[in-house]
Amino acid sequence: MPTFSAIIWFAFGLLIMRYVWKFGLGMLKSMTSTLPEPPPSGEMRRINVRYRCSVCGVEIRMVMAPDEDPPPPRHCLEDMDLVAPIE
Ligand SMILES: [Zn+2]
Repeated sequence: MPTFSAIIWFAFGLLIMRYVWKFGLGMLKSMTSTLPEPPPSGEMRRINVRYRCSVCGVEIRMVMAPDEDPPPPRHCLEDMDLVAPIE
């Protein structure tokens, strides 16, 4: 059974989430307005590279990029490390 203080904290958390959500939406809008349009998919390069986060170890695969040597994505606020390209 949740205690009274737990309920207060839950409500407080909801408020913070709402605030973060609104803030994030605003960020997203300002980002989409300043970022250049992505090129049409015909101009995208098919690549097949893997990146690993040196902080938490997560690995991702990138299959499409505007050029063959895209800047590494970021995870845990760090640039991800390039793992050997997949043949
Ligand atoms: Zn990470």
